[in-house]
Amino acid sequence: MAIRSVNPATGAVVRAFEPLDAAQIEERLSRASATFATYRRTTFAQRAEWLRRAADLLDAELHDIAVTMTTEMGKTLRSAEAEAAKCAKGMRFYAEHAEGFLADEPLSDPGVVGAKRAFGRYQPLGVVLAVMPWNFPLWQVVRFAAPALMAGNVGLLKHASNVPQCALYLEDLFLRAGFPAGAFQTLLIGAGQVEGVLRDPRVAAATVTGSEPAGQSVASICGHEIKKTVLELGGSDAFVVMPSADVERAASVAVTARCQNNGQSCIAAKRFIVHEDVYDQFAQLFVDGMRALKVGDPMDPGTDVGPLATEGGRQDIEELLADAVKHGASVLCGGTAPAGPGWFFPPTVVGDITPDMRLHLEEAFGPLATIYRVPDLDTAVEIANATTFGLGSNAWTTDPAEQERFITDLDAGAVFINGMVTSHPELPFGGVRRSGYGRELSAVGIREFCNLKTVWAA
Ligand code: NAP
Repeated sequence: MAIRSVNPATGAVVRAFEPLDAAQIEERLSRASATFATYRRTTFAQRAEWLRRAADLLDAELHDIAVTMTTEMGKTLRSAEAEAAKCAKGMRFYAEHAEGFLADEPLSDPGVVGAKRAFGRYQPLGVVLAVMPWNFPLWQVVRFAAPALMAGNVGLLKHASNVPQCALYLEDLFLRAGFPAGAFQTLLIGAGQVEGVLRDPRVAAATVTGSEPAGQSVASICGHEIKKTVLELGGSDAFVVMPSADVERAASVAVTARCQNNGQSCIAAKRFIVHEDVYDQFAQLFVDGMRALKVGDPMDPGTDVGPLATEGGRQDIEELLADAVKHGASVLCGGTAPAGPGWFFPPTVVGDITPDMRLHLEEAFGPLATIYRVPDLDTAVEIANATTFGLGSNAWTTDPAEQERFITDLDAGAVFINGMVTSHPELPFGGVRRSGYGRELSAVGIREFCNLKTVWAA
């Protein structure tokens, strides 16, 4: 895939970039490695000052960078501005809390191990490569970069090839905020150039947010090189609605949960599993809500759903839908892409799903929802856990026993009860099964790329 910005609302190529050559990659790797030697010795206070300045710059430039995001990947301008604001918040969160999260962990009774002092100390690992996707072109990067930089690591960013201007903006932002050149660098490289960077001995670890194939490739190379990885991969999360739920509220949140970011979110609810007692009411409200969304120009403040980010992405959705229809699914709304330029696809709900349909098991990365009618809680849990993923599940019920059952039995990195799965700097974020491993955000996220050194002193 060429490195270029293509406006998904029009199909027009906005800018194209030459990938870095071997000498340019070498220059950046050696700068990163040299920077780590000194950067790791900077104080938390100094790093926090730089990170807060980055947050202030981002706040001041919110509108302009949001326009770039929308132009490159089609999310609505409104949601792009919200994403940039969330990044500033995430930066301030780690500026404030990193030192506490990484404080020494003393053993309260060191005599038990024959020591006068015994404690764990978190130290940075070194140069970390982040392979990132286009769907939240700022937030995915910042939720890696803010903790990594605060921990004393240095970052290299290999961003998705369709968001190069966002990638360059982030490098420039951290530089202008005062971080040393080399603390955070963007590598404009294609996926095929990642292996060489991963195998370089100056690179200590990697994090991937993206598809299963990308995760498999990076993790297997890093496995061979004995390097730490964190994988944030796909999801096909369940949204279960039980009879005790506030069905109107659930249906309204369901529309947002499925169509946020034009339906292209890893933690978007994708499969709606509804108890038969409230199925008809929920399905009607959900379908009405999906139909009411305005699809169109993502720059228009009245637009709810912009285009899909790439032509291939829309084709994937169309193929999943065609396969389901061929096997007997019914389309309750949407289903047909409009004629004309841009990669638009209407909010779509599909019922009568059976296990032989690809849509039953695969991730739909666009505004395409499946809906299931179930007779009881056991069946709901069974269908919820039927995919190979496990990222963030939703369950709607006011019954405490049912809530406990969902918390215990949903195979997922997160369970949200009576609300939409969302990432928060304060909460751990990540998946199980083929959604990946490791955690981002909160105290756990900043420790992923640290060496917890055991210190024993007599
Ligand atoms: P993708 O193709 O895997 O791209 C993501 C990144 O990986 C891009 O930078 C891409 O580079 C790179 N890449 C792709 N193949 C690679 C390989 N073999 N070796 C090294 N790098 C490789 O993902 P996508 O389809 O654009 O993004 C959507 C997927 O990301 C969905 O499955 C979604 O659920 C998942 N996602 C997960 C999370 C999470 O937190 N769990 C968050 C957001 C998205 P190029 O662009 O140059 O190909």
